[in-house]
Amino acid sequence: MKEKYSVVCSECGEIVHDKYAQSCSHNHSGLLKTEYSKKDLVVHNSFGIFRFSDWLPVEGEILVESRPVTFHNADLSKETGLSNLSLTFSGYFPEEGARMQTCSFKELEAVPTLQRMINRKKEVLIIASAGNTARAFAQVSAISKVPVILVVPENSLSRLWTTVESENILLITVKGDYSDAIECSRKITSVECVIPEGGARNIARRDGMATVLIDYVMTKGHLPLHYVQAIGSGTGAIAANEAAKRFLKAGRYGSELPHTHLAQNAPFTPMVSAWREGRRDLIPDIDMPDARESIAKVYADVLTNRNPPYSIRGGVFDTMTDSNGLAYAVTNEEARSAGKLFTDCLGVDPDPAAAVSLAALLQAVDSHSIKPSDSVLLNVTGGGYSRVKEDFTLIPVPVTIKLPSNEPGIEVLKDISGWVKENV
Ligand SMILES: [Zn+2]
Repeated sequence: MKEKYSVVCSECGEIVHDKYAQSCSHNHSGLLKTEYSKKDLVVHNSFGIFRFSDWLPVEGEILVESRPVTFHNADLSKETGLSNLSLTFSGYFPEEGARMQTCSFKELEAVPTLQRMINRKKEVLIIASAGNTARAFAQVSAISKVPVILVVPENSLSRLWTTVESENILLITVKGDYSDAIECSRKITSVECVIPEGGARNIARRDGMATVLIDYVMTKGHLPLHYVQAIGSGTGAIAANEAAKRFLKAGRYGSELPHTHLAQNAPFTPMVSAWREGRRDLIPDIDMPDARESIAKVYADVLTNRNPPYSIRGGVFDTMTDSNGLAYAVTNEEARSAGKLFTDCLGVDPDPAAAVSLAALLQAVDSHSIKPSDSVLLNVTGGGYSRVKEDFTLIPVPVTIKLPSNEPGIEVLKDISGWVKENV
């Protein structure tokens, strides 16, 4: 029987037989990508994103409702002057069928990633996060009972909650920022049976995020002409472009890749800066001078990755090149104003990053990069925080270990090892 999918190196084309590997046998930095044996996609009568399981690298399904939903909003269409604008919304907005209770598209990554862990019973995944990703993994862990180790900066603790009691989570806080959380989690992978989830390198995360584009195409019947998203790492945009290529091969959804329109929040806009100069390499002195200061000033702090998968083969630069992309720097003022417009039109609060996306869309309309009748997918990567608080009790995830630095000492590693043995 033909396998459901194969994993291929985007740099050398090698078929990688270990489906959980994060690079090919030559250790190329290029992303591995999934090639599915089903060239076209059939929508299944399943929970959440598992309706699109033909193009997910998983077997079986977790009973969780996480999925994006695509809809039209007449008020926002009128305000933007775009007659063919669709929102693909990942968050909590039950009137439109969106029931992602952590209000973030990171759930789309967490669901297939943890589903794959069910097949790897002897190992535990570790995830470093600035907050939203950790919350998404916590929620899916609470529902699926798949254990996880989460490492977050202590000042993002307020973002760590679930709507279901969690039992299998080891939560570690570090003094410092997101980069310190990443450094700490790297050190903890020295503990036996603890494996890193891989970020953009993880095919399950990217193919989970690709369900945004898939949902649009299955709703509308064709690829959009434009895809608009605010990015921190750009994983979602890479994923959308990969899925669009699958639809092109399927042959009946259009003949052109959607133009990728990417936004970052000024003053921290490294990928916008490099792309506008046509450069594959990010040069920190030019693209992110005074990075820490700039990061401290932005409205949407989830958009501030200092090491995004931009230059690597199959990464953001290639996505933008493939799709004839455009990049936008959005000010805090533009983002806040777009966020208000969104709430006024839809009655639901967008995540700050989603407000940045809408602000970029407005810039694209003003500059005539997007024309009034063009088909547009606006990726609304999160929202509905106010609504979810009305409908659910938010349960804080208890902290297991508080570290005064990014350094887990020998005793802490022993404690983690003990926890892993109890939980696998
Ligand atoms: Zn390779």
